[in-house]
Amino acid sequence: MPRYWLRCIGCGAEYPGSARVYSCPACGDLLDIVYDMDREVSEIPWLRNFESRPLGVWRYRELLPVEDYRHVVSMNEGGTRLIRCRNLERELGIKEIYVKYEGDNPTGSFKDRGMTVGVTKAVEAGAEMTICASTGNTSSSLAAYSARAGLGCAVLVPSKRIALGKLSQALIHGAKVLAVRGNFDDCLRIVRELSRDPRFYLLNSDKPV
Ligand SMILES: [Zn+2]
Repeated sequence: MPRYWLRCIGCGAEYPGSARVYSCPACGDLLDIVYDMDREVSEIPWLRNFESRPLGVWRYRELLPVEDYRHVVSMNEGGTRLIRCRNLERELGIKEIYVKYEGDNPTGSFKDRGMTVGVTKAVEAGAEMTICASTGNTSSSLAAYSARAGLGCAVLVPSKRIALGKLSQALIHGAKVLAVRGNFDDCLRIVRELSRDPRFYLLNSDKPV
């Protein structure tokens, strides 16, 4: 397995890969995952069978920050179809244009690519429940992968923005959907506070502050 750790993009502070932190404890900035690539390239074992591996996120498992990839929470996400766009080619005068059809993913969105890794990390961390603030694809994906892993899942949404159509997928997968009197930022603040409790694992796409 590759050695990896976390490095703050702001102050450069470093933390172990297993640290349960979502942003830099020193300055609050975002964390990058850094790999010991020299060591990996020199070892090379995974490159030998790379081409024969099935398409998908875990094809690149040695470059994903998990401790033991034999226990990944996966539903064969990634490896989505390429669709040729002949009309766009003509219109733009470009010889070949292909788009990835991310609707091929298990819950119908690209969010599954991140959630397969994120929920695997939640399992590794020993969490009991995953949490997020979301009104859309993040909640569907998180709920599905959490169910797959046998974890609980709670989704916080602003009470005025509840669209049952969008949240139905999360509900079908057993997520608890909690309406918060407030806006999306209030939901995000609450899930961040909850994530200090080790029982809860936060899986949100966060924005730089
Ligand atoms: Zn920092």
